[in-house]
Amino acid sequence: METEKTRCLIIGSGPAGFTAAIYASRANLSPLLYEGIQPGGQLTTTTEVENFPGYPQGITGVEMMDDLKAQATRFGTDIRWGSVTKVDFSVRPFTVTIDEEKTILADSIIIATGATAKYLGMPDEAKYAGSGVSACATCDGFFYRKKDVAVVGGGDTACEEAIFLSSICNKVYLIVRRNELRASVVMQKRVLNTANIEVLFEHQTKSLFGEKVLEGATLWSKKGTADEKEVNIKIDGFFLAIGHTPNTGIFKEYISMDEVGYIKTLNTTTKTNIEGVFAAGDVADPIYRQAITSAGSGCKAAMDAEKYLHENGL
Ligand code: FAD
Ligand code: NAP
Repeated sequence: METEKTRCLIIGSGPAGFTAAIYASRANLSPLLYEGIQPGGQLTTTTEVENFPGYPQGITGVEMMDDLKAQATRFGTDIRWGSVTKVDFSVRPFTVTIDEEKTILADSIIIATGATAKYLGMPDEAKYAGSGVSACATCDGFFYRKKDVAVVGGGDTACEEAIFLSSICNKVYLIVRRNELRASVVMQKRVLNTANIEVLFEHQTKSLFGEKVLEGATLWSKKGTADEKEVNIKIDGFFLAIGHTPNTGIFKEYISMDEVGYIKTLNTTTKTNIEGVFAAGDVADPIYRQAITSAGSGCKAAMDAEKYLHENGL
């Protein structure tokens, strides 16, 4: 297998990975970045991004990620197509396999592999992606101001998103599959006390409908019981809030994570439990999960890596 050596390997090409690349290349670390199966990351799946500072008129997710890539390239980051399929963090330099066909030996590593929102798995979710279906209310809620929307899920995220949307939208349905919420009591109270949120307990989504854009959803009420029936709700936005899966499976053997799989970082740094391995962006952030916070932690990871390499004479 072909082997290559680098001082700084960046895994992932979202806002965290590219920002780390900009800082690392300007610090003369000559970083090597592997893009993974989603070059540009999650933002390439959305239309307009309006909340990233510096774009007063907004920008499409694809254009923004092209800009970040161009900026990283300008300072000399070696950006390549390919995915990390295996790592060995028990040896130094760290050993990383790319698509089972190449080995990279790296003095330092920045993990920026992001997290993936869970979807219900209905074909209609893909059909209306960007025209009614979203997995991020903070990102897309504004596009639905004064309209009727639904949030799926019964956890803290779903409640938080429903409350957030209730201040922008006309009406918010919260579609909950069981007869109770999983969310903390304080969040439950907030939801139940918000006048324009209607909680639909024991409801599941069967399908979505609409001519060109989303116009409504067909739900099952009390599915699988004698009282099962179908109901239609008219909505313009359908928000998934049923959890995220951090893309950390390949690091599990070595890196400390929480019970969901988010990488644990030390205090306010991007340091993981393995010296020389850093984590940035959604992969280490169960709370904020925004482009700007990911970019910010990408900056921190590059600075942490630079300091580590310098202190260890690498
Ligand atoms: P990601 O963007 O998730 O990128 C992860 C990268 O890692 C990808 O390039 C992937 O290919 C790569 N990767 C994964 N596994 C491997 C591997 N094994 N080997 C190599 N590479 C790998 N945020 C906002 O601030 N504003 C918005 O308007 C906004 N809108 C959004 C709309 C949608 C539909 C979604 C889903 C999210 C939105 N977000 C928005 C959230 C934002 O996209 C994320 O917070 C941000 O992209 C996280 O950046 P990241 O760099 O941590 O990871
Ligand atoms: P979560 O707690 O795992 O809740 C996921 C919710 O989605 C559950 O209600 C679950 O239903 C529902 N769900 C899952 N799959 C579904 C499906 N296929 N169809 C319909 N519903 C489905 O996830 P989360 O809300 O993202 O929270 C993750 C963690 O972050 C939690 O520990 C949470 O407390 C924390 N968090 C905290 C705050 C806060 O404190 N402010 C905010 C956000 C998140 P069931 O209940 O039936 O399983």
